[in-house]
Amino acid sequence: MDISDKIRIIEDFPKKGISFKDITTLIRDGEAFKYVINTMADNLKDKNIKYIAAPEARGFILGSAVAYAMGVGFIPIRKPGKLPGETISYEYDLEYGKDELVMHTDAIDIGERVAIVDDLLATGGTVNALAKIVEKAGGIVAAMEFLIELEELNGRELNSEYEINSLVKYN
Ligand code: AMP
Repeated sequence: MDISDKIRIIEDFPKKGISFKDITTLIRDGEAFKYVINTMADNLKDKNIKYIAAPEARGFILGSAVAYAMGVGFIPIRKPGKLPGETISYEYDLEYGKDELVMHTDAIDIGERVAIVDDLLATGGTVNALAKIVEKAGGIVAAMEFLIELEELNGRELNSEYEINSLVKYN
């Protein structure tokens, strides 16, 4: 199934120069959504994965569905101030300034295998921070799975120690 024509591209959003890849047009198509989730779940099978971890907000849409399809648990990774229990966090650099991701401290036990799911790999900073949190908690990052990859931003380089899969690539 060709899903690339289901992704809507909106130029200059959220700011000038950004070519935004909008997945809302893909996930409103039931067949395309199902294909994406099943393909991601299939890529991750046989890796002995215990949890899918994904960042808010678009990561939740894909990650929780992949976890359900695989019959494994889902771990939400959030911005600070949203999770009610004790948390661990990781701060990372953005183009301008810093951002932080947070996870419940007890979400992962030592040695448990986790796959990370998100909608898009750009510079790889977000997913790298997420991987560092998983590792800080004692987990093992078994794979990273993306719907979209922006190849020219070299997200793979920053995350060269991890296995990375993406379904649709842009140059
Ligand atoms: P990065 O940390 O640079 O890999 O950025 C990845 C995150 O930013 C993903 O969670 C995406 O949702 C979002 N993102 C970055 N660039 C784009 C883009 N061109 N279109 C849509 N989302 C983007």
